Amino acid sequence: MSLNDTYVSLSREIAASGARMVAVTKTHSVEVIQSLYDLGHRDFGENRVAELAEKHAALPKDINWHFIGHLQTKKAKNVVPLAHLIHSGDSLKLLRELDKRAGGNSVDVLLQYHIAVEESKYGLTRSTGVELLDDVSRHPLRNVRILGVMGMATYTDDRDLVAEEFRTLHEIYSEVKETYFEDNPMFTEISMGMSGDYRIALDQGSTLVRIGSLLLGERQ
Ligand SMILES: *Cc1c(COP(=O)(O)O)cnc(C)c1O
Repeated sequence: MSLNDTYVSLSREIAASGARMVAVTKTHSVEVIQSLYDLGHRDFGENRVAELAEKHAALPKDINWHFIGHLQTKKAKNVVPLAHLIHSGDSLKLLRELDKRAGGNSVDVLLQYHIAVEESKYGLTRSTGVELLDDVSRHPLRNVRILGVMGMATYTDDRDLVAEEFRTLHEIYSEVKETYFEDNPMFTEISMGMSGDYRIALDQGSTLVRIGSLLLGERQ
């Protein structure tokens, strides 16, 4: 299938579930991004700060850039002016730093949870999430807006396991919403699902799927 056909059928399928697609373009050229832009797409995902900065400078300014990689605190200030949504809010320290570096603008962030079986240094657990949110309740963020949650499932063929992990993330979303964001209509996003598991994620209530290789082919 051509990029056009793949794009059209994927976006239809995702929209039919009421979700949106972030086209993950890490390692791909600005020309590739421009061709998706020309098809009308505006939401693109990158996981490295330097690569995001280069692409942001080279491409149209009405693109919504999603930052989806681990963000080091020391690089927070560089991402603030570039990102539409930071999916990888995984520590209180990072959120405080983003808040400080916001320059009076709002900075939109998702809380990243570790839901996979695989070890990872990054991502909140239910309990570290509660600690973070309690702290934020006592000392509110001025500029950072927490708009939802994000997570990555285990890389496996076991579809039941993946479904269970996405179900867990949806539960965490609901608990956090009920406890901390009941009166906040902006807390709405569940970013889950990639090329290999986006259908399972859509079944479990994903609102944002992050698709790279299925759309653009394997990365080098
Ligand atoms: C690379 C990446 C994706 C896209 O992965 P594909 O399997 O190519 O769709 C999604 N989310 C995150 C956080 C990524 O780093």
